[in-house]
Amino acid sequence: MKRLSGHILLLSALLLFCSNPVDEPGRRSSGCTVFTSPDAPFSDPPSTASIRYIITIPDTVHTSPLFTCIINSGYRFLLPVHYADNPLQQTNGPVVRDLHITDHDGQTIQPSFTTVTVGPQTNTEMILPDDVAYPVTVTYSIDFSTFIPEDDSKSMPATFCNDTAFFFTGAHCFIIPEISLSLADLWRTPLQSEIVIHKNPVVKVFGIPGTAFSCPTLYELLFLQFSHGAPVLTCGNGGGVDFIFTNFTATPWSAGLADSTAGLFAMVLDTLSRTYGSFSHYAIDPLPYTLAVYTLWGALEGTFGFAVREPFEGTDGRFCEILAHEALHHFIGIRCGDLDDPWWKEAAAAYLGLETAVNLGQYDKESFRSRMTARFYAADSLRFRRALSDPWLRDHMFSEVLYNIAYDRGGQIMMLLDDRIRTGSGGTFTLHNAVAALCARFAGRGFSRNDFMQVCSEFGAQGVDSVFAVYVDRSDTVPTPETLMSAFNRIDSLAAW
Ligand SMILES: [Zn+2]
Repeated sequence: MKRLSGHILLLSALLLFCSNPVDEPGRRSSGCTVFTSPDAPFSDPPSTASIRYIITIPDTVHTSPLFTCIINSGYRFLLPVHYADNPLQQTNGPVVRDLHITDHDGQTIQPSFTTVTVGPQTNTEMILPDDVAYPVTVTYSIDFSTFIPEDDSKSMPATFCNDTAFFFTGAHCFIIPEISLSLADLWRTPLQSEIVIHKNPVVKVFGIPGTAFSCPTLYELLFLQFSHGAPVLTCGNGGGVDFIFTNFTATPWSAGLADSTAGLFAMVLDTLSRTYGSFSHYAIDPLPYTLAVYTLWGALEGTFGFAVREPFEGTDGRFCEILAHEALHHFIGIRCGDLDDPWWKEAAAAYLGLETAVNLGQYDKESFRSRMTARFYAADSLRFRRALSDPWLRDHMFSEVLYNIAYDRGGQIMMLLDDRIRTGSGGTFTLHNAVAALCARFAGRGFSRNDFMQVCSEFGAQGVDSVFAVYVDRSDTVPTPETLMSAFNRIDSLAAW
């Protein structure tokens, strides 16, 4: 299978993997591994990083924005492209061009460079001289020609530019402080950031809140998606935020599709915001929350919007599921994240996004039942014998094409937790309530698995530790269809769906 861009709501084509149970070199070929994750992932308290960016948007879009990065401390920095718990676009050379660095006195600085590995990605590390006089100013632009285009319309170029439009993700364009080489530490270290946009007033840039804003973690900086030049397909308001869909495909929308899609997304945002809160907490100017429509087959979450595939005309139950899944990522995995259980982000968004689509009457209940109660299709594949809490998954589940461990198997475990909460609370609370509370409590930082289990217990769940012990920490156990059906029916009996 070709490399996927973004985290993908996966399709049945991946079923072929279950017929090919080839073990990986260096891994045990049978048996099971039990993981116990530490409660505190930091060996030392993380420091706070600080960075200021001025992004100068050109009046004509076929040239790169100019990035000016002002550094007040630190010596080691990572040049793009960064891994942000998502697959990466391939490149054929250095992404940064015209790099120029000056010190406090305006003298040109010559840094040294080396390479370091963060997650699955080899990054270029820039090292400033020990005696440098701060503040240091770094200017650079992005070389679009280094990004290798995807081979067809199935996936999205994470960074894209032509004569009429551009689309960037933060992971593809920001130089960041090298706080740590551990993903958990790197992503969740507090960040003092300021991003200022310089542009001609008539140039509209979408996907960012106004012309000056901040991101409290590197996660939110690297998940930024900002774009210019693509025509607007439709717009609306939901969950207290204005939103627009911009078109990066060659296909215009009919008026009917534009209206129905705007209405659908407004409904999704209204529904989620009632539990999770506002989608516009950082907006200085009104957002609008931006959905960039691409000819891809899934979606890619972002800090102030997301990229998403085209909806099909007529019935498209999965489109609502995708919209809800990505909108949930605004909280799940971007504003708040797991520190040591890499499966949480996708498993929670997968189950709760689908469950939301069912509740909104946009996804057939019997199809939902089938998906949630089927034995995990790759359960017999040795390749897929990875515990959900195995830290290895965070770095490798996309590159090794094992993401369904998190999406499908993890989604079913989330249903088991939902059952524990709903049953334990007599139908008063759901997994949505627990996850929303978790996201609010740990906004801008990360929680540990014990925090997650504690919140589930606060909302009525009993025996959460046994769910983790049996289904999360073991590589060889998947719930049986009988177990899944019992959970589904108990939830259903509480008039959930
Ligand atoms: Zn996702």
